Amino acid sequence: MTKFSDLGLSQPVLQALDMKGYSDPTPIQAQAIPPVLEGRDLLGIAQTGTGKTAAFMLPSIDNLRRADNKVPFKSCRMLVLAPTRELAGQIAQSAKDYGAMAGLSVHSIVGGTSVNKDRNKLHRGCDILVATPGRLLDLIDQKAFALNGVEILVLDEADQMLDLGFIHALRRISQLVPQDRQTLFFSATMPKQIKELVGKYCHDPVTVSVTPAATTAERIDQYLFMVQQDEKQTLLEMILLEQHPTPGDFERVLIFTRTKHGADRVVKRLAQRNIPANAIHGNKSQPQRERALDEFKRAKTPILVATDVAARGIDIPGVSHVINFELPNVPEQYVHRIGRTARAGADGVAIAFCAEDERSYLKDIRKQTDAEFERLPLPENFRAVVEGVGPTKPEPKQPRQRVQPKPRGASAERAKAKHPARKGRPQGGRSGAAAGGQAEAGGGGNRRRRSGSRSRSRG
Ligand code: AMP
Repeated sequence: MTKFSDLGLSQPVLQALDMKGYSDPTPIQAQAIPPVLEGRDLLGIAQTGTGKTAAFMLPSIDNLRRADNKVPFKSCRMLVLAPTRELAGQIAQSAKDYGAMAGLSVHSIVGGTSVNKDRNKLHRGCDILVATPGRLLDLIDQKAFALNGVEILVLDEADQMLDLGFIHALRRISQLVPQDRQTLFFSATMPKQIKELVGKYCHDPVTVSVTPAATTAERIDQYLFMVQQDEKQTLLEMILLEQHPTPGDFERVLIFTRTKHGADRVVKRLAQRNIPANAIHGNKSQPQRERALDEFKRAKTPILVATDVAARGIDIPGVSHVINFELPNVPEQYVHRIGRTARAGADGVAIAFCAEDERSYLKDIRKQTDAEFERLPLPENFRAVVEGVGPTKPEPKQPRQRVQPKPRGASAERAKAKHPARKGRPQGGRSGAAAGGQAEAGGGGNRRRRSGSRSRSRG
């Protein structure tokens, strides 16, 4: 097994890794760090949660230290472009953590915040700047910043930047950065436009592919409910209230809807059932997003309803379940969504709700991502609850048996070691995510233990 110390990183960076508690490099780190240290351009095909931030940040910190150039006036030495504010914030934090011993200055600039503050902040330049493309070009247009000092350029989640309409911004930026620089280009998927961009930005890049483009994360168990669109909310509530034997223990549940209004609607209806949840989407202000994320991270409100754009790049360890309340119409988006769980080696559960009119999306997802779903039956009394004739008063609590993901060799052993509760969980016990909800018996007493084969994606 490769160790961080085998990769040629400097002592200050190794020390910072020690402080973070990382002992072994992830595959992308092991493969990317040596060529980046040599100054090579890199094309990283990697989905979220693979540890790609450290894969580009650690060697770059060393390269910056070694070159020891002066911080340029109104410019930066390393520029990292990221699609969303959240991701930019996380990358900047990682740069500060990993560079803690290296004495490098780090700033981030994102849309939705005061442009004047950014202008002042960047006046003296900095070593590392993390930016969303729109805000960066704003400042360049105002002559408050220039890219002449850039030694290292990183494009993170390039496919998402394209999805968000940053193609023109990226083309423009490619004209403004110095020719003599190193480029590290990351994308989870490789559509044609991305290949063209790689050609524009990179010079003879080393390609590191952690999982083939558009395959679903390996350690995620994927389940499917076929359910009518207008019955999805009821199903969601029954799952969160543990009236249905869903696999795994809820720690933090991330729910995806296609639209902002859809996200708000889900949150409102959950609130009516005393299930606290927050929404995160483009109509929320920056402080609202930050608060929602913070409450989710601290598991104060461990249910977050998100749209794709807002959720992109969110790094929260311990997302136990991703629920696709609506299926995305772009298969790659499915990969990104479920990549929120099972980050950096943890196991995760993804549950898809598919309505009749989403069957074609499901077909595309299956075809293009190799995802294999295990279909789950609707709760036993689902029809009665939907029709309003199901039990409304809590019945005496009955022992319940939760479906557990089927053991799968080594990873099951790891799961047991990590979640000893899974071995002998108290019957009827409830876990964090649904704790705010009212326990309703809903006829969900002795649940059938799910049998049959468990399917999962194989990358
Ligand atoms: P990323 O794919 O860069 O967003 O990283 C996903 C998560 O993995 C983040 O929470 C990182 O802090 C964490 N991580 C990155 N590298 C390692 C490592 N070598 N060991 C353990 N966790 C890591």
